[in-house]
Amino acid sequence: MGTIAVVGAGQAGVVLSAALLRAGWRVSLYSDRTADDLLSDRGRPTACLFGDQVEYEAELGLDFWPEASRMRRIHLDLFTDDGAVAFSVDAPLRKPALAVDQRLKFSSGLRELEARGASVVIGAVSVDDLERLAATHDLVVVTAGRKSLTGLFERDPVRSVHSEPQRRLFMINIHGYDMAARPEHREGVFSFLPGTVEMFWVPFHDKDVGESRSIVVEAAPGGRADRFRDVTTADEGLDVLKAVVDELLPHESAFLRPARPTSPVTWIKGEIVPVVRKPVAVLPSGRHVLGLGDAVVLNDPLAGQGANNATRMARFFADELTAHGGPFTASWLTGRFDEWWANGRYANDFSNGLLAPLTDAQKNVMIAAAHREDIAEQLWEGFNDPSSLFPWFFDAAATREFLSRRNVGRLDVLRYKLNVGAGLLAQKVLRRPVGGTATP
Ligand SMILES: Cc1cc2nc3c(=O)[nH]c(=O)nc-3n(C[C@H](O)[C@H](O)[C@H](O)COP(=O)(O)OP(=O)(O)OC[C@H]3O[C@@H](n4cnc5c(N)ncnc54)[C@H](O)[C@@H]3O)c2cc1C
Repeated sequence: MGTIAVVGAGQAGVVLSAALLRAGWRVSLYSDRTADDLLSDRGRPTACLFGDQVEYEAELGLDFWPEASRMRRIHLDLFTDDGAVAFSVDAPLRKPALAVDQRLKFSSGLRELEARGASVVIGAVSVDDLERLAATHDLVVVTAGRKSLTGLFERDPVRSVHSEPQRRLFMINIHGYDMAARPEHREGVFSFLPGTVEMFWVPFHDKDVGESRSIVVEAAPGGRADRFRDVTTADEGLDVLKAVVDELLPHESAFLRPARPTSPVTWIKGEIVPVVRKPVAVLPSGRHVLGLGDAVVLNDPLAGQGANNATRMARFFADELTAHGGPFTASWLTGRFDEWWANGRYANDFSNGLLAPLTDAQKNVMIAAAHREDIAEQLWEGFNDPSSLFPWFFDAAATREFLSRRNVGRLDVLRYKLNVGAGLLAQKVLRRPVGGTATP
């Protein structure tokens, strides 16, 4: 096997390098930070991996945290504008998901890959460096994430759906919460207030405190939850979060009230413009490089697909490069990316689909899922394998067929809706929170 240079020791870079080393390639891994720098970095994104991707990392021997809590269920509450829970969907994931602090993953990954024989070079790679690497390796793969070298890769106007951010993001890792107040938080909790905010509370293995929760806030721009823009510290961000939760998602207040940030740096704010770029960039010399991960396919994290996609892409390309052996012409690489896209596009379609308002058909599925665990389980499988949601979650006729194959007809949906209405009335009249899964 020949030589491959991988630029960036992040999710795509670590997984790709491990897979290529296993297949017998000589790998040079270029990282802008040392393992110690990566470990002492600012907080990184939640980056929860779903079942198949967790298994693939384990297969590559990159599962160094057996003690980290797996997420085995997801509990979703759909809130109304006045803070009531319209209904809840609660079901197991088919395979456990796992969110380990990327600072731990990347620093351990870099050390481990060096121990396995990768030649590790520290320093931020520039376009000039890429020229040198392209001249001396069979292939250069840029996995430098969403902030650097992306200008090399041309935006694909056909595959890119958005040109503006669709959400304002805030993420913070917390501990010290009151689990007894909301035992649902032993697993993943999603809180959706349609048109205003989606919030994800994910079991997280934090570098400093271990067991913790990572909270991702996806606020509609200009809406009632879009209040994090002026935040400058973790404490400030958590105070704003507590105020937003008290006002919009009061079910979560008791759980969150005693919480503290896991450290002063484990928080993020910002926004992302989702984009798909052409996977092959031509350097000034005419040589070319391949891009993978966020460098080429960048999604809003609403559907939790970025790190999953980076892993899927790394896996696909490690297999293809190994089967082919070279030479890696630009047209061969583009052809393989197109092949990957035939399935990989579903992660984008899922992410972009969730960014749009829920359709009536999707509301029907969610209400059915609140009453039927088998439907909820099928829905959650979409996070692991987004293609499993198509076409039935995104096409009204396919939704009807999907539900009818599961013996859910119009009358059942009507009955479920009446049930939801009765539950809401009970909350109003009796001031009694529903809080759990509605019963049929
Ligand atoms: C708030 C938030 C929450 C998220 N939650 C999830 C989630 O739950 N699930 C999920 O799947 N995804 C999630 N994501 C997305 C996920 O974190 C990214 O998609 C994923 O990390 C991308 O992997 P990557 O390898 O492409 O880039 P990265 O993981 O960012 O790695 C890039 C690496 O390259 C290095 N680098 C950069 N420039 C250079 C250079 N010039 N030379 C050398 N090295 C360089 C960087 O230091 C870094 O180590 C989330 C994102 C955000 C913002």
